Amino acid sequence: CGIVAYVGHREACPIILKGLKRLEYRGYDSAGVALMNGSLNIYKKKGKVADLEAFLSDVNTHGNIGMGHTRWATHGEPNDVNAHPHPSTSGNIAIIHNGIIENYASLKKLLTEKGHTFQSDTDSEVFINLIEDIRKNNNCTLPEAVRLAMHEVVGAYAIVVLAQDSPNQLIAARKGSPLVVGVGKGEYFLASDATPIIEYTNEVVYLNDYELAIINEGKLEIRTKEDVEQTPYVQTLEMAL
Ligand code: GLU
Repeated sequence: CGIVAYVGHREACPIILKGLKRLEYRGYDSAGVALMNGSLNIYKKKGKVADLEAFLSDVNTHGNIGMGHTRWATHGEPNDVNAHPHPSTSGNIAIIHNGIIENYASLKKLLTEKGHTFQSDTDSEVFINLIEDIRKNNNCTLPEAVRLAMHEVVGAYAIVVLAQDSPNQLIAARKGSPLVVGVGKGEYFLASDATPIIEYTNEVVYLNDYELAIINEGKLEIRTKEDVEQTPYVQTLEMAL
């Protein structure tokens, strides 16, 4: 239901947790983060962001990239396993997802036959395994695999994908669910709406349906699902602090 992600020079985890709290008004049943604190790790809990925060108090969360999610369950009951982020079968990539993948059952069957395994009951875990499958079959980059996956899934989504082997890269995509990119000085934010971003930067790019944002090595690239590069339309929001 809510998405926050960060890459830049600051500590990612506190920015993500604070951002998730700002999105609390949307309502949710669980919360989680994926951090690059040495390696790609996922921490998630049923309950409030404060519960996740308490769970993280024993963890060294140090790192400059990460993503967080608050879940409003549509597929699978609210519990720790169904909470986002979800890793792929290999564990090398992870996803947060808002929305509903309508054809998840047929995709899950296909992916299971190909050897993918599933821990959760969510439609979202199917999406990340589809991306992993496409990447392997096409021997392509991760952004390219996300783009191709957008042609296979039916439904609504705002997603962010993080990869163990790309510690400076965030990939986001949307169709039907909102997603905003915050453009700072040498740092980027992603969120469901601008409220988690506005205290850091007032420069934002609203992602359109069927677009993908690739943030890598300090640069933002926007492409359509047909692979046409778009010039990011940066809007300046009025600071309402
Ligand atoms: N359909 C996904 C799930 O049930 C995402 C729900 C959401 O938007 O929070 O986990």
